[in-house]
Amino acid sequence: MTPALRYGHAATAAAVVFITAAAYLAHTGHWLAAAALIYTAALFTWIATREYAQHRRTVAEHDWARRQALGEQPPPLDPCCRLGRASYGAAHDHLCTDRTTRQTDDPRSAA
Ligand SMILES: [Zn+2]
Repeated sequence: MTPALRYGHAATAAAVVFITAAAYLAHTGHWLAAAALIYTAALFTWIATREYAQHRRTVAEHDWARRQALGEQPPPLDPCCRLGRASYGAAHDHLCTDRTTRQTDDPRSAA
């Protein structure tokens, strides 16, 4: 279990609690508070989806690193790394799964 998976579960639980509270408040006629809680629940749902995506990426990176350590030549992940995605392929971080890239943020490769 990665920390992201724990945060994803916590955000999902919080969203369920907020939806339940919003339903109760809507039932008792407190529409403004219910709307605020629905907005908060939507925010926590988005947080949960981001945390679950982070968990899947971490598991895929670990699986890729394990396969490479065992001598296999696994294909690069898509996207190859987080910096590569953020920079549209202009730069890559030291954990990049595409070994054909030349520019990295690894200080050892600057020599
Ligand atoms: Zn990369």
